[in-house]
Amino acid sequence: MLDVNTIKKNILNNLRIIIAKTPETATDMDWFNAIAYTLRRCLTEHWMASTHKYYQQDTKRVYYLSLEFLMGRSLIKSMLNLGIYEECEQALEQLGLSLDELAEIEPEPALGNGGLGRLAACFLDSMASLNLPGYGYGIRYEYGIFQQQFENGYQVEHPDNWLRYSNPWEFSRPEVLYPVHFGGQVVEYQDEQGRKGYDWKDTEEVMAMAYDTPIPGYATPSTNNLRLWTAKASRDFDLQYFSQGNYIKAVEDKNHSENLSKVLYPEDTHQMGRELRLRQEYFFVSASLQDIIRRYLAKHDDIRGLPDKVAIQLNDTHPALAIPELLRFLLDHFHLSWEEAWELTVRIFAYTNHTLLPEALETWPVWLFEKLLPRHLLIIYKINHRFLKDVSYHFPGDMDALRRMSLIGEEGEKHVRMSHLAVVGSHKVNGVAQLHTQLMKTTLFADFDRFFPGRIINKTNGITPRSWLHQANRPLAQLITQSIGQAWVTELSHLKKLIPLADEQKFRSEFREIKQNNKFKLAAFIKKELGLEINAHSMFDVQIKRIHEYKRQLLNLLHVITRYNQIRANPNIELIPRTVIFAGKAAPGYTIAKLIIKLINSVADIINHDPVIGSRLKVVFIPNYNVSNAMRIIPAADLSEQISTAGMEASGTGNMKLALNGALTIGTLDGANVEIREEVGNENIFIFGLSNHGVTDLKRRGYNAWDYYRENPELKQVLDMLSSGYFSPEAPSLFQPIIDALTHGNFMVLADYADYILCQKRVDELYQQPEEWTRQAILNVANMGQFSSDRTIKEYATEIWDVKPVEHQGFVC
Ligand SMILES: *Cc1c(COP(=O)(O)O)cnc(C)c1O
Repeated sequence: MLDVNTIKKNILNNLRIIIAKTPETATDMDWFNAIAYTLRRCLTEHWMASTHKYYQQDTKRVYYLSLEFLMGRSLIKSMLNLGIYEECEQALEQLGLSLDELAEIEPEPALGNGGLGRLAACFLDSMASLNLPGYGYGIRYEYGIFQQQFENGYQVEHPDNWLRYSNPWEFSRPEVLYPVHFGGQVVEYQDEQGRKGYDWKDTEEVMAMAYDTPIPGYATPSTNNLRLWTAKASRDFDLQYFSQGNYIKAVEDKNHSENLSKVLYPEDTHQMGRELRLRQEYFFVSASLQDIIRRYLAKHDDIRGLPDKVAIQLNDTHPALAIPELLRFLLDHFHLSWEEAWELTVRIFAYTNHTLLPEALETWPVWLFEKLLPRHLLIIYKINHRFLKDVSYHFPGDMDALRRMSLIGEEGEKHVRMSHLAVVGSHKVNGVAQLHTQLMKTTLFADFDRFFPGRIINKTNGITPRSWLHQANRPLAQLITQSIGQAWVTELSHLKKLIPLADEQKFRSEFREIKQNNKFKLAAFIKKELGLEINAHSMFDVQIKRIHEYKRQLLNLLHVITRYNQIRANPNIELIPRTVIFAGKAAPGYTIAKLIIKLINSVADIINHDPVIGSRLKVVFIPNYNVSNAMRIIPAADLSEQISTAGMEASGTGNMKLALNGALTIGTLDGANVEIREEVGNENIFIFGLSNHGVTDLKRRGYNAWDYYRENPELKQVLDMLSSGYFSPEAPSLFQPIIDALTHGNFMVLADYADYILCQKRVDELYQQPEEWTRQAILNVANMGQFSSDRTIKEYATEIWDVKPVEHQGFVC
């Protein structure tokens, strides 16, 4: 184990030898790097030992393919996972440095949009912590999700140049380099035995080069690899133009190829259908499969054994091209029969569906496939042909089933349905919460559930307790460890031992004091960053997530304005003071979501400056929501807003993070809220609004938003203020599109308004009884064991992947 003196010595050594600075000339960034290299050395020892073990034991491995990994910073996480946080803190103190301040120097790798990318990060942490041999594969975007700033209340996007100051956690692997092909044409040929084969030729070539990042487990030497691909121009290109003496053209083309991994697409639950995105998908899938097959063949010579050693999880349909790509290898390189190749493929793949929203379902025009991936299109046609033959055999005469289930959609322009490809090519397909899985089985994939009984299963999402409690909320983590021991960090169900403590006044007051301190800290951050003074004793009412109509930030805002009107109508009213905190990014092309941001900022501007309101109501929009900001906000939250239209949020994981940190949830019966309610008990959560059935019924009966407007004077007043320009005096019709969205959209905001307002009254009433509020908050924490991503990953490992933990020796450093 590293002790304080060794850590100090190593930091000073690294500063001199790796950074080449003296303590007198070192910048904060230099110190940060010197510390990072100290930790990295230890991580690397563990990592090499793990890699060697997997190789030696020839263990079955899981490959998690994801276009997004929202990892967050690594400095403190590495210290905690290695069990040397206190030692590092002391070593730095003795060097006259502050760990908290240096940790803020680290740029956050934000290679994801939101929940889907963060889930991938939590899963990597759980796989390593459970000693499972799990590899992440993705793209090393040069620019992650944009950085959000506000100008005059509007979102402006800035490029996230996270690699500007080298990244101490990654290892470049210039020798791990694979060609990836696009375009060209397919020619059929016959071999000597008269069998048909396919040659894909005249393609353009891009090289994929690997960068590796060690992923340490918690309190185990088990350390896995996240391998991210970067695009490099192929040497062939250079030679071609250089030989023609066209130097400038050669360099331009180099740029063109390398643009492939330049930037993450910033749309969350929305498909944009850009050619470059399809290129990104194929690029990372092809490189990853080549790497997986190379690793397998290093130890084995029969490709037919691949499913015994390889499981591949597809995080959404973004990597679904891996299915035809593996088939292509097996058919065109290994010359297996179709039947054999297909059987191996289906045994290897599993697919996670993340949304039922039609605008998010991936489809690609057939012409684009023809242009970029002609061989894959032929393979998809063949999968489809065989599949539809099976369908017509099982559902004789049901022509409509064939149309509905086809991998090729014919409405409008002919397109490939990536979700159908993923379902047909996988042995297991999972939803991410019970309600979501049930809806998959009865709506989007109903035909497939009939045809493949048992293929569609549920794996409710989870979050890693290391990041979201142990690291994000050190004071609460310490209180819990003092009270029930430290086993909860790896066995979150141990939190149940807190249940009896909810009835102890001493524990409640300690718990409340921690929450209050976290609120002081967040208030100080808001003061420092936004110059806004908030009442740290007010209720912190928090909605932090991507801005999307289905997530209904507008419903929250209607409540805020209603409250504002109550105070103005009755200036002496005694109301529970609230600070309503928003955070979240809008996709740059999502006009109405960006207008929602502007509206929140405009409402904040009016309310926060109204002297009549005082500290009874404040609205804060914390810019640039990311993992670091989530870790600041969540420990300070009293109330967690999880208010999506029922049936639209697949799971949510923000809901889990907030409840784990002792916030009470106000929410609809949607996604994992349903299961959170089952765990914490109906009396310890605020549920309101239409259920999924209620929404469907109302839509069938005909939903007329104006009825709610006419019948509810409070609601009418709020909407009239919006449309008359109360919050935009300089441009009175600015927010008219929001009125239109509320009255024409299908997110049922107005239908849920009245019940939401009533429910918020109940929230106020409970908050007036601090002992009871705290008791319920503790019971929320105590009953969150189910939502550890360790539980989720154990289920995947046994029910989908069939992979087992690998025994490790103790720590080597
Ligand atoms: C957890 C998390 C999300 C997902 O939040 P939801 O409320 O489940 O949508 C998105 N972004 C970040 C940075 C997160 O940490």
